[in-house]
Amino acid sequence: MKFRTKLFVGFATILSLLFIFSFIVIRMFFIMNQNMHGIVDDNYTKVRLANNVRSDINSLSMETNELLLDANMDLLNERSNRIRQTKISLNTNLNKLEQMFESQSDENKLAQQIQQLHGLFIESNDAAVELLRNNKKEQAISWHNSNTEPIKVTLFESIMKFNKLQEYDMDQSLAKSTDTYYFTIRLIIGLVIITLLCGIFVAIWVFRSVTKSLAHIISVMKQAALSERSDQLPRIEVETKDEMASIGHVYNVMAIALEEHAKYQKQANFILQEQNWNKTKVAEITAMYQGVQNLTGLAKIFITAICPAIGASYGVFYNRKEMEQGLPRLIRAGAYAADNKEIGFDSFAFGEGLVGQCAAENKVIVLTEPPKDYIQISSGLGTASPVQIAIVPVQFEGNVIAVIELASFREFTPSQLQLLEELTDILGITVNSVAGQMQIQQLLNESQMFTVELQTQSEELQLQQEELKTLNEQLEEQIEASEKKSMELGKIKTVLEEKNKHILLASGYKSEFLANMSHELRTPLNSLLILSQMLAENKEGNLSPKQVEFSQTIHSSGKDLLGLINDVLNLSKIESGKLELDFDWVHLKKVANVVERQFDPIASNKGLQFHVRVADEIFDTMIYTDEQRLQQILQNLLSNAFKFTEQGSVSLEIQMIAKEEVQGAPNDSLSELTLAISVSDTGIGIAKEKQAVIFEAFRQADGTTSRKYGGTGLGLSICQKIAQLLNGFIRIESEEGIGSTFTVYIPISGVRSELPALTNQEAAATIDSNSSDAIKESDGPMDISLKGKKILLVDDDLRNIYALTTALEAHHIHIIFAENGKEGINLLYENTDTDLVIMDIMMPKMDGYEAIKEIRRNAQFKSLPIIALTAKAMKYDREKCIEAGASDYISKPILLDQLMSLLRVWLYR
Ligand code: ADP
Repeated sequence: MKFRTKLFVGFATILSLLFIFSFIVIRMFFIMNQNMHGIVDDNYTKVRLANNVRSDINSLSMETNELLLDANMDLLNERSNRIRQTKISLNTNLNKLEQMFESQSDENKLAQQIQQLHGLFIESNDAAVELLRNNKKEQAISWHNSNTEPIKVTLFESIMKFNKLQEYDMDQSLAKSTDTYYFTIRLIIGLVIITLLCGIFVAIWVFRSVTKSLAHIISVMKQAALSERSDQLPRIEVETKDEMASIGHVYNVMAIALEEHAKYQKQANFILQEQNWNKTKVAEITAMYQGVQNLTGLAKIFITAICPAIGASYGVFYNRKEMEQGLPRLIRAGAYAADNKEIGFDSFAFGEGLVGQCAAENKVIVLTEPPKDYIQISSGLGTASPVQIAIVPVQFEGNVIAVIELASFREFTPSQLQLLEELTDILGITVNSVAGQMQIQQLLNESQMFTVELQTQSEELQLQQEELKTLNEQLEEQIEASEKKSMELGKIKTVLEEKNKHILLASGYKSEFLANMSHELRTPLNSLLILSQMLAENKEGNLSPKQVEFSQTIHSSGKDLLGLINDVLNLSKIESGKLELDFDWVHLKKVANVVERQFDPIASNKGLQFHVRVADEIFDTMIYTDEQRLQQILQNLLSNAFKFTEQGSVSLEIQMIAKEEVQGAPNDSLSELTLAISVSDTGIGIAKEKQAVIFEAFRQADGTTSRKYGGTGLGLSICQKIAQLLNGFIRIESEEGIGSTFTVYIPISGVRSELPALTNQEAAATIDSNSSDAIKESDGPMDISLKGKKILLVDDDLRNIYALTTALEAHHIHIIFAENGKEGINLLYENTDTDLVIMDIMMPKMDGYEAIKEIRRNAQFKSLPIIALTAKAMKYDREKCIEAGASDYISKPILLDQLMSLLRVWLYR
């Protein structure tokens, strides 16, 4: 039975007992209560009624007595009334009493007796009263004393008896009630004892059944706790079906789990022990070869230690050795149990035999039960073949650096093989570090030798250092002196800088002055050149030859003056640093073409040969430089060459040379590649002593030169300065009477050989840098007449207007003119049939740019050709003209031919 059920049963029993017990006690009390009621309700009432009867008889008797004694007849009726009333009360009480009796009981008999006596008494009393009434007083008294009184006494005796009977009854009931009480008390005590016993029994029953199972479980558990074999634990025998049985079950399951755990732990312990054994062995063996400094020693110690450790009876250690020639080999370095015959081969190549194969594959090879004649292991007692042979590679970072071969009489256990593997892993590192150490040792020896040498050298150095120290001291003294000087120099420098500022200011003023002056000179020169040319042309034929010659002289002098002005302007620009270079890709072939086309007519004029040669390898090359300045240098050199050569030839050669080929360059600005352009002639040549002088401004080789050849002496100095701006220089080689060669060297910062397609414009030769692109572009329809065309000329210089008008009118062109921009525009609106506008740029009120912009704003004149007239010929002036809307530009002084071809181009587009 379950422990819980037992408890339920026990407590239910106790509760039932308590219930029965309570019921009985209540029942007992009920009976006792009834008894008490019996006494009070029955006996006591009877006694009371009997006493009432007695007192009524007494009072009736007394009334009768008084009546008899007094014999007052007046009171007779009153007393008879009282007697009657007393009789009624007596009757009533007697009737009540009678009703309470049970038939056949002693009581009843007594009651009947009382009843009878009462009847007799009344009759006797009534007879006495009747006698009295009949005035027979004495008879009445006698009657009363003889009859009535005895009846009364008997009646009283009966009543007494009755009362006694009732008292007896009451005593009986009390005794009965007392018995019931005691019985109840005993019953309660009995029931309490029974309940207690029952409770004790249940408690003992439950307690015993629990403690018995618990004791069993505890004893089994104690056994389990004390058991030495945790893999075999005692079990709890489950016989009951209560909670203890569940505990037993649970315990048994736990015991199974514990046994399994114990088994697992045993296994783990075993593995751990094996690992520990392995680690101890590894530690022992690795400790053995600590401090070994050569590979042979290491091999011997290792093989001697490993063989007993893993139960091998035979062992050989092969070390890898790099051969001076050919592939590395495995050389025997140590053996275990070697006998006189020595074990194994001396060496193996990689892949040779099983040892070589093991090294080549970097894999363990195990041979089980090799043939009897494979190898014999012998001791003093006998000889036998091994059962297993293991060949193990030793590696470091994937490279096999040694091989170990071991033989055993028994098969190697997994833990032995594990130990072998771990040891070979560590061995790999050790072999490598020993090899490294050996190498370091060797290097150390070498370095020691070097140290000795170094020491000797350092001693020498120390000596030198001391010498240097002395020198240093001397130098310091000199530095002090030089510092003083440099301070003085600093002061001088400040003074000089101050002066320099003044000079720069002055030079600025000078340049400004020169620029303005050249502009002022060019403007009048413009009309002078135009008009003198027209005179020289003598179209009307009204001038004498002499006059024509004069005109020609005026024209050529004007041209010379223009050249001089240009040169002075150029030089002043260069000197004041205002000359700006415009670098771009320049095609060498084009440079050559330009000068060739320019100078060919002059050569044929003078009857000279003219050769232009561009080295083949650079014919298609483009270089990065300022084309205009390069052209300027070449034009200058070539015009000098033609000027100073009367017969023979002039040649131009362009080539690219290496920096080293240029000897004595004045600065090291030359780059790896240098452009060398030579202009050679067979002219008068220059004396050695004059060769340096001619590069100075206004200097000529011969003071009389200018008289014979003309010139200002500025050309070469401008060329030299431009070359210097381009980081290059000009060199001269010349012999008097034989000829001269001027070579320009310019460093090349960039070379390009793939040619962008040349536009017509680029390919066309430029004759004069002052001329416009349109002229360059076309050869000009020279023969086309401009007759009848209407041109508006806007210029503030009346001389110019006059000269141009005269010149253009000679071609039957209709000219209208204005003196400033504003006027020009007004005039244009009046003459909308104007074919072309020539617009001067520098004008008062409204300048040329403004006026051109204004004209272009009107859609009507969107395509009207406007030629701008610039005086300074600055590069940016031209760009500004085109930007403002000019179709083309021409610079002052105007060359008539140029102007005419420009007009043709724009009027016959
Ligand atoms: P210009 O030629 O205007 O006098 P340059 O500066 O060009 O001035 O030349 C200076 C001088 O150098 C010339 O006057 C001349 O005496 C001499 N010279 C220049 N080039 C040659 C040359 N190719 N042959 C002979 N002498 C020359």
